[in-house]
Amino acid sequence: MTTKSNANKNWPSTILHIDSDAFFASCEKVVSPYLKNRPVVTGAERGIATSVCYIAKKLGIKRGMLIKDIKKQFPQVVIRNSQYKLYTLISNKMTKILARFCDKIENYSIDESFLDLTELGSFYNHSYTKLGATIKNTIKKELDITVSIGISLTKTLAKLASKHRKPDGLTVVAKDQIKNFLSQIAIQDVWGIGNKTANKMIKLGIKTALDFTNQNINFIKTYFYKPQIETYFELKGIKIYDIILKKEKPKSITRSQTFYPPTKNIKIIKSHLSANIDSAFRQLRKLNLLTNKIIIFIKTQQFIYLKSEINLPCYTAYPLLIYKRIDRELIKIYQPNLEYRATGVVLLNLKSADLRQLQIFADPDKEAKLQSLYEKIDLINQKYPNCLTTGLQTYTKPHKQKKGLFLLNIKV
Ligand SMILES: [Mg+2]
Repeated sequence: MTTKSNANKNWPSTILHIDSDAFFASCEKVVSPYLKNRPVVTGAERGIATSVCYIAKKLGIKRGMLIKDIKKQFPQVVIRNSQYKLYTLISNKMTKILARFCDKIENYSIDESFLDLTELGSFYNHSYTKLGATIKNTIKKELDITVSIGISLTKTLAKLASKHRKPDGLTVVAKDQIKNFLSQIAIQDVWGIGNKTANKMIKLGIKTALDFTNQNINFIKTYFYKPQIETYFELKGIKIYDIILKKEKPKSITRSQTFYPPTKNIKIIKSHLSANIDSAFRQLRKLNLLTNKIIIFIKTQQFIYLKSEINLPCYTAYPLLIYKRIDRELIKIYQPNLEYRATGVVLLNLKSADLRQLQIFADPDKEAKLQSLYEKIDLINQKYPNCLTTGLQTYTKPHKQKKGLFLLNIKV
């Protein structure tokens, strides 16, 4: 008799989530072993604690605390500047170790990954406690970093499991253990459930993750939206979210559009160019990339391309920062006696936005504000395509404006 190799009633799917404990502070201890038994905090350059080792946590120090307060209250604490290149290096080493155990890896952040072990179930004999321990020991031995691992049927359950025991934890939740596990999890601690939703749930009498999964699906559909419905199934052990495997990232992003009728009017040209720029940057953000080199071009009726290259002083994914600069460049290449039929933009020197953590920005506060603003814009535009555009695009879609096009014109 042949059996389906990976079928196991307790493990219809298997996801492992791994989360390094106080990662940045641990990396500091790796390169400075004399700090091993001392309280270490990173983030001196930002003035706030970005990572707090477990010895420092025991003193009562929390992430986000002001460095000046820590210095005053806990003079014994070692406070370090962040060394993101070092953290990225160690993170890459960790990914290489994980790749020995599984080829389906999603690097969720610099210190967190998901592994899809479903197809390897029979290979590991479904002994996930043993596998988790082996991975932990390997990382400890080779990198001297402790991690917490959660293994369960879905991403949501695995993430909750890795958080369940920290630091140096290993929590395995098989199908028949889910209910017991969820009864110990407060609803506000569930991955993907924000404060507002948690409060709404508590008002409805849902206090634990188990209370949530015990509800009838019709009740859930009456009171909640798609993300919570997905979480509901994930918590029940029904896999909704797949591992997102790394795709080849493009070397450049181009957006160009021909318009009709051709025009000499620089306002109309600018309007079309800004629509292309918005679209290119939207794609850039979608791919989690940043750029610091932009080429803009305008094309004449005679198919002559006039272009300008813009090198930015730092990487960004937000065009609001550069519209003024683009305006100046456009004026430079624009010749008033010619008629134009197309505009375009090419984004080059693309880098992963994970480098955001490398603090490559001149003004991190402004960058953080823009990030939050664009996250909202992208969300709204995803739901209502092109609902929010820059005011610069007034001349591109005047018919839409009459219908009530929202123009975004925000000064940051
Ligand atoms: Mg962590």
